[in-house]
Amino acid sequence: MLNSTFKGKETRLMFKSGDKPGAGRYKCQTCGDIIYLFKNSDILPSCPECKAACWVNC
Ligand SMILES: [Zn+2]
Repeated sequence: MLNSTFKGKETRLMFKSGDKPGAGRYKCQTCGDIIYLFKNSDILPSCPECKAACWVNC
């Protein structure tokens, strides 16, 4: 599967567990689980559902 999912101007940023992408809503690329970071200093965890490490902001 390719990582190029450019639809119009909507660019999805990808993050990995351990990153500090800032407060916001993030979706697991593997299973679609949604997590929230409430502080800019929060660190992305591994997915609690599938243990994947790749997230996109949404
Ligand atoms: Zn997942």
